[in-house]
Parts: sequence; structure tokens; C-alpha cells
Amino acid sequence: MSDRILVTRSSMPPMDEYVREIESLWESHWLTNMGEKHQQLEEDLKRYLGVDNVALFVNGHTALECVLEAMQLGADGRRKVITTPYTFASTTHAIVRVGLEPVLADIDPVTYTLDPSCVEKLIDDETCAIVPVHVYGKLCDVDALADIAKRHDLKLIYDAAHAFGVTRDGVSSATFGDASMFSFHATKVFNTIEGGAVCFADPALADSLEQWKNFGITSQEHVEYVGGNAKMNEFAAAMGICNLRHLSDEIAKRKVVTQRYTERLQGHKGVVLCPDQPGVVSNYAYFPVVFEDDFGSTRDDVFDELHKHDIYSRKYFHPLVSDFECYAGRFDSNATPVAKHVAKRVLTLPMYADLSLADVDRICDVVLGCAR
Ligand SMILES: *Cc1c(COP(=O)(O)O)cnc(C)c1O
Repeated sequence: MSDRILVTRSSMPPMDEYVREIESLWESHWLTNMGEKHQQLEEDLKRYLGVDNVALFVNGHTALECVLEAMQLGADGRRKVITTPYTFASTTHAIVRVGLEPVLADIDPVTYTLDPSCVEKLIDDETCAIVPVHVYGKLCDVDALADIAKRHDLKLIYDAAHAFGVTRDGVSSATFGDASMFSFHATKVFNTIEGGAVCFADPALADSLEQWKNFGITSQEHVEYVGGNAKMNEFAAAMGICNLRHLSDEIAKRKVVTQRYTERLQGHKGVVLCPDQPGVVSNYAYFPVVFEDDFGSTRDDVFDELHKHDIYSRKYFHPLVSDFECYAGRFDSNATPVAKHVAKRVLTLPMYADLSLADVDRICDVVLGCAR
């Protein structure tokens, strides 16, 4: 009776809806380079996210690299960027790959996002920016971070890969800071198969983002930057146009899954859930559980037990960025004890819109069966 439950399942529109969306591409033969689907998705996203400025990209990671480059961070000699070790590999990799130097600050024990007081302590004359990461569909302390960035003359660029569609007091997560990067990877709440976007406050950034994603070409006979190729193609944009139509349904279904998990797991000894934030409407991107030592089994035991039942969870985020082999000798995970504590104990349980409540119950039965 044990059917496999994967950790996620990509959202897809009805096939005929997608086919209708791409039909015009057989008329235009225009497959990429900012075609009609690209333009339409940008407009749809502006409306959905409540922003004036959106640039689409081939993926979220490259979007982050491009916005760091387009902002010319490091040009004034300040090269340090404060970010979190509690994130996906992409965040610090983007900072390093554009020639900047990540400095890792600890996280808040409740929201798992950057702790503003830890950020402030690490700022010095060489700091140019803060790259906070919204985690699991919960938001950073955006007010405190904005205040710090302003007082220290720092750029504030959010890795908002987990926060597409999230609002606080009705305000879109895409409006915080100088810019926010979104990922539209297949596993995210909203996907374009692979894809990403940057939302940004200063309209002057629009041209340089367009140029950075297209080889630094500024006009037919001018190439002013050593840019890359990071354009979203028309088939990906068409997928986004379709998926966006179904997004509020998808998020509503995720909310039901989240509520069931919460009912089943809340209050059990040693089980820590990520609480709702006042005024924040989440997208329910992930369902993280932290297994404290008095749960009776370790996170790794729970992971293995789920695996035995053909249920796939994810140690996310583990390991910490500071413990990656590629950064050996560069960071010390003991300097961020909260992040270290959480990374060792966290598990994200299967989460997707069509996960049945019967399956959620099956998952919770296995998890709670690990308690002592
Ligand atoms: C998915 C993700 C990224 C990278 O996005 P891609 O679209 O896969 O390149 C970056 N940061 C975080 C936190 C993510 O979850």
C-alpha cells in the first residue's frame, strides 16, 4: 500500500492550455530574445507582484549574479557582502562568482532569516551590500534590514527565491530593498521550468540588467560590458503565463496541506514548527520541522525512517554554506551557532499543492512514530 511520496512535485497547467499558449510561436518563429511571451510574462508579473520594474532571466541564480553586477557593487573598492549561511548554494556562489566577498552572519532562531543585530556587528568600511534570504515562505525582518542598509549606505538585495507571492500587510515581498531575486525553478511555488526574475526599485537599472543578460551588448555596434547569456526563452515564458493563472489555487491548496501538518505535529515534545508571522500571507513554499534533542530521535533518524516508508524529505538547508568543501578554510560555522543548530536538526517534509491529506497523515504517522 506504500506509494512513494516525493519531497516536491512541479506544478503544471492543463496540457491543452499550454499548447494553446505556444501555438503563436509556430507563426512567429520567434523563440527567444525578449519575444511576445517574454513581454507578456513581464507585464503579468508586474501586475501580480505590484511592482513597476521586472527583468526576466534564464534562472534565479544568474538573475542574482546579474543584479549584483548591474549595481556595480565593488566598483568603489568595497567588496564585502553580508549574507546568511542558512541558504541554498546559489546565494554565496553568486556573490563569489561576481568577485565579491561573502561575510556570513547568524540567523534568527524563530524565522531562520538573517538576524539584523548580527548583520550590524559585521559591517565595516569594506561592506557594500546585504543579501538577506527569505526562507520557506517566511520573510526577513525587512524593516530592521532597511534601516541598517540606509544608516550604513549599503545596497539591500533580497534572495526572494522562497518568497514569490508572499505579502506583508498587503505589500508584496517584491518591493523590499533595492532589488529582489525570484527563482522560477521547477521545484518552486511558481515555475517557468527554469527561470527567474529581478524586481528592482530604481528604473535606471532596467537597461543595464537587459544588457548584462545579453552579453553586455548595449546597441547594435556597441558591447560595453563582459555580460553573459541569461535570457528567458519563449517556451519558458509561456509556461509562466499559464502557471501564473493557477497560482492562487496552488497556494490555497498548499495552505490546506500546511494546516494539516500543523494540526498533526504542533505541540509534540521536541517538534519545533516555523510560526506564522503577523501580517504576513505566506506562499507555503516548504514545511520545515526542527527536531530538538528531546524529540527522542535525531533528524537523520527521522529522514531514514521516512525513506524506509518510501517518503522523501529533504535536509534543507544542510550542510551550512560555511561547511561546503568549496569554501574550506574560508568560514567557521561555529561563528553562526544558531544556523549551525538549525541546520543539524531541520527537515523539510514533502510539500506540493496536490499532496493529499491522507498522505500528510501517513507522513506524520511515521514522523511521530520516531518520537520517544
Ligand atoms: C532555488 C534557489 C535559488 C536559485 O534559483 P535557480 O532558479 O534554481 O537558479 C537561489 N536561492 C535560493 C534560496 C533558492 O531556493
